[in-house]
Parts: sequence; structure tokens; C-alpha cells
Amino acid sequence: MTEDRQAIALLAAVARGVLELTSINRAAALRLPYPPGVQLVLDQMVLSGMTRSHPIPAGVPDLMRWCRERGPEEWVPGLPDEFLTVGTRLIDPEAGEPTRTCVELASLGPYGVPERETETLLAELAAACGTVERFVVCRDFLIDRPVMLRPDPMQLMQPAVAQVWNLVKGLYGPVPDRFSDAGLVHCCRDCGLLAKYAAVGRPWCEGGCSSGDRELETSQDSQSALALPFALRLFLALPGRTEQTVRSRLTDQVQLLPLGLGVHRVTSPDGTLRVFQVYDREQPGLAALRAAEVATLLDGPLDIVMPDAMAGRPGCRRRFNLALPVGAQVRLVAASDFTTPGPAHRSRGNRA
Ligand SMILES: [Zn+2]
Repeated sequence: MTEDRQAIALLAAVARGVLELTSINRAAALRLPYPPGVQLVLDQMVLSGMTRSHPIPAGVPDLMRWCRERGPEEWVPGLPDEFLTVGTRLIDPEAGEPTRTCVELASLGPYGVPERETETLLAELAAACGTVERFVVCRDFLIDRPVMLRPDPMQLMQPAVAQVWNLVKGLYGPVPDRFSDAGLVHCCRDCGLLAKYAAVGRPWCEGGCSSGDRELETSQDSQSALALPFALRLFLALPGRTEQTVRSRLTDQVQLLPLGLGVHRVTSPDGTLRVFQVYDREQPGLAALRAAEVATLLDGPLDIVMPDAMAGRPGCRRRFNLALPVGAQVRLVAASDFTTPGPAHRSRGNRA
């Protein structure tokens, strides 16, 4: 394994450790013994630091503090230049929650977890649905409702909804304790994901909405609120909003291929077949690596459609293309370009 790959694998292991600690009860998180995965990654960090004369974390709490206060390039030697965007943290300094980057990193490589978990849950749902048409309806239900602050049993049992609800209800669970604040639970009105008031009192949401626009919806009954698993919220519901907009703008019928998180096929006006997947991710480089894996599975070209604001961020396309493996049949397209008839999307894409 090259030095670059070793550094990336180590960082991905730290990211999985952060998620493992986050997923267990807050009081138990920093008590000995640590979960085996967390202890293992600490050992790897110590070994890496010793062999490269790099700082060594004094323990798990120290490593978690680094994740919160320092960029990974400061404490993982050998990371490729521009692998992550500037100012990246694995733990949000204000909210104390794993960042989207952390979850994207934790999904990387053969030991990647969250995105694969999402794919498995969706594959099981597709099998339970039996038909692609029914799966599309159930998948849209999840996209529309990543968090239900006040689930209404009467509404969910209405004939038009009941069949879908019976298929998807097993995916929902209680809102994690760490999002309950004196009995209150919040979600973001913009992205629909879980939210909280950070230590400084500013609203924070999992979807990374810009703080100027962010408004929180609050329920006083945290016990009855329901949420999808974290990875489904991030990898299905978050890009799902853009995906639904893209689908509604395309005049030709869009066909869902129940592969992974959901890949779509559409015939463009000039008769060519386009296969696309919508990504809403924090790290363009990590998105490129995952997209290349999906394109390999498809054995054909794949357009990665991103929200306009994300595709237009400075350096996004450059970082995406820099990380794309040689020969990967992947192109990054902004959502509005993708749905514009004519060759506009083609000229602005970046097929590798
Ligand atoms: Zn949000």
C-alpha cells in the first residue's frame, strides 16, 4: 500500500472510531474499556506516530480532542495534498457531533461502514417491496421524512399511506439521546435532518445548511419522535431532496436502478442514455472515489449530479477530478446543468 493510501486508511479508521464512540451512550463513551474498534485505531495512531516521529495522542480523549480542534492534515502524516477541504474537522467544534466528512470518510474503502449499511437497508427494502414501482414510492417516503418529530398514527394508517408505512416503519427508531435537550428535540426546516443548539447557542443541523437560513422545528415530546438511522439520513434523504428536483425537471421518464443508494437512468433529448446518481457530500474527493466504485459496478459512464451550491464551491470540481482514479468513467455535473436541455451539461462536465 502506498504512503498516501496508508494515511487515508488510517484516517478512515479514526472516522469509524468517532462514529463508534458517538453511537454508544454518552456517559459510557469515554469510559474504559473502549470499544474494540476505538482501541485498535488508537494503537494504529500510536504506531504511525512512532514510525514517522509524529505527535502521538495520549489516549482516546486526546484523539477525540484532535478530531474536534485540529484538521486531519495536522495529525495524520502522509495525507495527499488537497485530499480534504480546508478547515475540515471530524467532530464539529460547536455541536460536538461527527461531521459529514467524518461519515464520508468512515464509508471509504473495504472496511467502510455507514454507506454500505445504507445500501444494505435499501436492498432489503427493495426486496420486501417486490416491485421497483413500490420501492420508488417507499424510497421517496424516506427522503421526505428522515425525521418525524410528531408521527401521527392516524395519518400513517390511512389507506393511501398504510401499505408504504408497513414496509418502511422498521427503518425508523427513536431519536438518539444526544439530540434530546431537556425533553426537546429539533429538526432543521431546510434539510429536515436532526438539529440542535450548539454550545454557543447557534442552531446546528446534520445537513450542513448555512447558519444564516437555518430555522429549527421543535417538539416537546422527544419520546415519540422518530428518525431514520444516521447514514440513511445523510446518504439517502439529504441528496434525495436534490434528486427529487432533478427527476421532476427531466421530461423523459426516469428509471430507478435499485443499485446501491439508487442510480437513475434517463434518455436525453439526443437519444443517448444517461445514468446518474445525485450526491450531496461535503468532500468532493471522497465523492469521486465512491463514484468511481459505483461506475465500476455499472460497467459504464456515470454522471454525478450535485446541488448547484455544492458543485459551484471553489475548488469542488478540481478536487473531485484530482481524486478520480485514472480511467474512471465519471463526470461531475451541477443539477441545473444536468436538467438543462441541449449540450450545456456536456460542455461543463468533466469526464475523466
Ligand atoms: Zn439543515
